[in-house]
Amino acid sequence: MAKIYTLVNQKGGVGKTTSAINLGAYLGYYGQKVLLIDLDPQSNATSSLGIDKNTVRTGTYEVLLGSAPISPHILHNPRLKISLLPSSPALAGAEVELADLDHQEKRLSTAIEPVLSRYDYILIDCPPSLSMLTINGLVAAKDGVLIPVQCEYLALEGLGMLTQTLDRVRSSFSMNLPVRGVLLTMFDGRTRLALDVVTEVKKYFPDQVFQTVIPRSIRVAEAPSYGQPLSTYAPESSAAKAYANLAREVLGQDGIMIPEGME
Ligand code: ADP
Ligand code: MG
Repeated sequence: MAKIYTLVNQKGGVGKTTSAINLGAYLGYYGQKVLLIDLDPQSNATSSLGIDKNTVRTGTYEVLLGSAPISPHILHNPRLKISLLPSSPALAGAEVELADLDHQEKRLSTAIEPVLSRYDYILIDCPPSLSMLTINGLVAAKDGVLIPVQCEYLALEGLGMLTQTLDRVRSSFSMNLPVRGVLLTMFDGRTRLALDVVTEVKKYFPDQVFQTVIPRSIRVAEAPSYGQPLSTYAPESSAAKAYANLAREVLGQDGIMIPEGME
């Protein structure tokens, strides 16, 4: 039975997509079957895995709006060790169209039920908003949310509203919706500010911040244009090593053994 984690933060540019791809790829590297769901109409996760969003015929949009099964829409890349439910520009219209449907907040959750037994992890990459698409991502997140936070000025801005949204979803859908972990991204140890942000975020989310911190690295910005995660594009980079560490931290907390020789 897959664990489902949704990466959420309504701020753009904090590392949601980067973390979804690279955590996903390293979970795959450690032997897990991983499905990444691109829930953002901007299709960044889709393009970062080398797929031209304009060529996507079917994907998240059809799964949310249609009644067709999810399986035929999933793409699998054995080399990158990750499967993808791609997004396309059509998803931008989903917001309005969902409004006319029953159980509009539960469409994604219902759609992924039939494939839960096929994966170990399902990661959902949200758009930078608290829209109906994101609410679908939250309602589907049966094992919790991962909140990437950028180590920058005003890092905590907006997290109060995110917390309120999580509370609302918890009570409306009788879910636990735990904060599975807060991930500090784009850390630059040379700056005082980054260190201050780490302290501040740990105070705001006591015991919920992942030990692994993702450093800022030029390789991260390059990898998407090669359509690859760091695990194949630049496995020796500091950020790749950090995402590998994060995958091991998540697996350890979930009680999943890493294959022998890969520890
Ligand atoms: P979000 O999905 O939250 O909008 P992204 O993952 O797309 O954020 O990241 C925003 C930008 O920051 C992207 O251009 C990405 O390449 C860059 N970025 C993310 N993480 C890092 C990092 N650790 N080091 C350097 N650049 C990063
Ligand atoms: Mg994104």
